Amino acid sequence: MLNPNRDFTILLVDDREENLLALEEMLADENRVFIKATSGNQALRHALRNDNIGLIMLDVQMPEMDGFEVARLLKTNQKTKHISIVFVTAINKEEHYMLKGFDEGAVDYLHKPLDINVTKAKVKVFQHLYQYQQELKYTAIELRRINQQLEKFAYIIAHDMKSPLTGIIGALSLLEMDEDGELSAEECKEYISHSKEAALYLANMINALLDYSRKSLADQTVEEVNVQDMVQEIVHNLFLPPHVTFKITTPLPILWTKKLKLQQVFQNLISNAVKYNHKPDASIELGCQEKGDLYEFYVQDNGPGIPFQDHENIFKFFRTSINMATSESSTGVGLSILKLLVEEQGGKIWVDSDPSLGSVFYFEWKK
Ligand code: ADP
Repeated sequence: MLNPNRDFTILLVDDREENLLALEEMLADENRVFIKATSGNQALRHALRNDNIGLIMLDVQMPEMDGFEVARLLKTNQKTKHISIVFVTAINKEEHYMLKGFDEGAVDYLHKPLDINVTKAKVKVFQHLYQYQQELKYTAIELRRINQQLEKFAYIIAHDMKSPLTGIIGALSLLEMDEDGELSAEECKEYISHSKEAALYLANMINALLDYSRKSLADQTVEEVNVQDMVQEIVHNLFLPPHVTFKITTPLPILWTKKLKLQQVFQNLISNAVKYNHKPDASIELGCQEKGDLYEFYVQDNGPGIPFQDHENIFKFFRTSINMATSESSTGVGLSILKLLVEEQGGKIWVDSDPSLGSVFYFEWKK
């Protein structure tokens, strides 16, 4: 969590220098910073320029612009309206009446001559108030950040669970449709064992995702990942239909990285290459090349391709491309999640596509 600023800045406003010095001396303490102003105008300038003012000690009787006028202007400005104000006043009848106008927000008063103990105690209360407000502010920022991560996380779960499930449903449907018993015992066994493996893969994914949700992005563990083995496992569990041939064209590296994230990127690109390819002899090729401190991986297919004008859009949330194969079930979420995952690692993801030949998705991953 971000550390709230522990310093407490007090703006002292009085037209008489000696009063300012006396007040500063009286209130001096560890972690307190003082800014001094000898006129209302100067006070307004400081308050507008400085984001860290926690309290303004404002003399009421000043020539030109009096303390009440300064306070009114501060309270009407969005940037300064929340700053606490303590009026330093002679408290005559007229001033008492004026103070009633400020009964909203953190406003208080001290009357002259100042009593050291009362003044110190009051300032201490405002200091605590300021520090609680700061903590609350930083907690709210942190909460927003966590909520955004959770939102992303929900998309990831919903999206990535779908591919292995489709494999299971496909295998079970084949078994169900075989009413005449045309499938051999061997084939039946194979479909069942594939379904079981895909279900186990799903269970592992759920565990890994739960683990991911417990840890913040920063402290997810880095582990040794044999990319070749990982890709083969993904392909196995996606239960590719028989008309799809899959080939790894170059040796794939062993990396120290966050495994789940890299796995998500490959799984999504490979399942897209299958999902959007309706050719009778679909082919997918996967490989990589070294590029300085990065590896550039690619997943190439001979599918319907993606028109040039959609090359950037498909990486945005809920955007799909209008190609022959995009069905209503496409949510346009997968690639946008991949973009987040790849960019988080300091890499880029992009597509190169000739609609008559197919698509090549490239992404970079740190070594
Ligand atoms: P979804 O999560 O619904 O699969 P994606 O964000 O992964 O959506 O993909 C966005 C769109 O990009 C898809 O609707 C499809 O039009 C297009 N697309 C993605 N991968 C391919 C591919 N390999 N071949 C052709 N079109 C693709």
